[in-house]
Amino acid sequence: MAEGSEKHFVETEKMPLLLEMTRKLYLSLNIDDVVKQVLILAMQLVDADGGSVMLVDRKSKKLSIGKASRLDERYVEETVLRMGERVAGWVADQKIPVLLHGKLRDNPQFSALEGRDDVRSSLCVPVKISDTVVGVLNLNRMMDGDMPEFTQADLRVAVTFARYCAAAMQNARLCETLMNRNQQFTEQSRSLTVWLAEICHEITTPITAIKNYVKNILDGDLGEVPEKVRQRLERVSQQVDKTVGFLEELRSASARELDFQEINVALLISEALRSVEVWTEEKKLEVEVDVPGDLPTIRADNEKIEQVLVNLLRNAIKFSGESDKITVGAKAGENEIQFSVVDCGHGVSAEAVEMIFEQFYRAEESQDVPGQGLGLAISKKIVELHGGRIWAESEVGRGSRFYFTLPVRARGAQGTQKAEPGD
Ligand code: ADP
Repeated sequence: MAEGSEKHFVETEKMPLLLEMTRKLYLSLNIDDVVKQVLILAMQLVDADGGSVMLVDRKSKKLSIGKASRLDERYVEETVLRMGERVAGWVADQKIPVLLHGKLRDNPQFSALEGRDDVRSSLCVPVKISDTVVGVLNLNRMMDGDMPEFTQADLRVAVTFARYCAAAMQNARLCETLMNRNQQFTEQSRSLTVWLAEICHEITTPITAIKNYVKNILDGDLGEVPEKVRQRLERVSQQVDKTVGFLEELRSASARELDFQEINVALLISEALRSVEVWTEEKKLEVEVDVPGDLPTIRADNEKIEQVLVNLLRNAIKFSGESDKITVGAKAGENEIQFSVVDCGHGVSAEAVEMIFEQFYRAEESQDVPGQGLGLAISKKIVELHGGRIWAESEVGRGSRFYFTLPVRARGAQGTQKAEPGD
């Protein structure tokens, strides 16, 4: 009777806290963040001194530590458990939560295991999605802490919390997969437009050269031209004109894809920063914005220029160290705005700087950082399509500075139709 009423008291007292913590869990959609939050919140919820969240690898079915508190760093990095191995492996395999007191040898099923002299009491709970165990939540009260041993009521609170954790982790995983696919898709469809413009430009250049050679011959620069040759060359010249016209139509059709609007630069930068906030926060980066208040507006495709800024910012974040500083700025030049994204990350060599805007190029220094070598190539095409320039300066170990300019008013054929029907 006494024990029953105590249980009831503990659970009803913890309920508002449990709900509040669950709400917090759902705020994050990044799996590493969620795992970190799970441990922090679970420890608060049951007043644990330390613990860990272990994750089951879907392929190997082995458990490794996703996040830990008060555990030796080397142990965290090196620990990989098979199903059934030690306490967490047993819990994952049996799908049963356990409450342990004192040393493991006092518990019959774990009596053969060593260690844990400093642990007073533990909760070890499977994290399940339907009937599949995706992780194990371990929570400890230590000998040197003030709290007594965990109770059955604590175990029930932890089991309930673990159910919500599983759903939040599932959400975050799904969201990450979707975001990756969406990013790939958006990059591909954006690149199609800019590649088309690039191809047209590449073909137009040699064809125009042919037209000039023919014209020189027809003008008599190489001597008198027999009538029959003249007639043929005139036909060549007409065909070349037609092809150039066709390419020009194709190029302006793809340029028309740009949706020119009047853009407030400060707003554009803050939108881009908002898109990368999850990553700047994750790395605890200091972000400085250097934009004077009196910048003129620009005419540009808001979505595409935001994409350029996001590409540069994502790189700056990727190649920065924890707690480093990133500066994003804009300043007015003569009829143009110059944007900059500066990091003090690992940088690249002078030779690499020459190459980084090439499609699929990845500097040797960055091979262990994930990426496809496309972001900068796409950014360059977008900026050039607007009539701007893009370039970089970098030094190994000292960081990189990326700059691009955009004309205050977009140039002639580039996108006039869609945005400025009256022009
Ligand atoms: P990705 O980053 O996906 O590889 P990008 O085209 O954005 O593709 O970048 C190409 C390469 O340029 C990167 O792989 C990296 O070597 C280098 N790079 C780009 N931005 C930076 C930066 N801020 N710091 C260091 N290296 C960078």
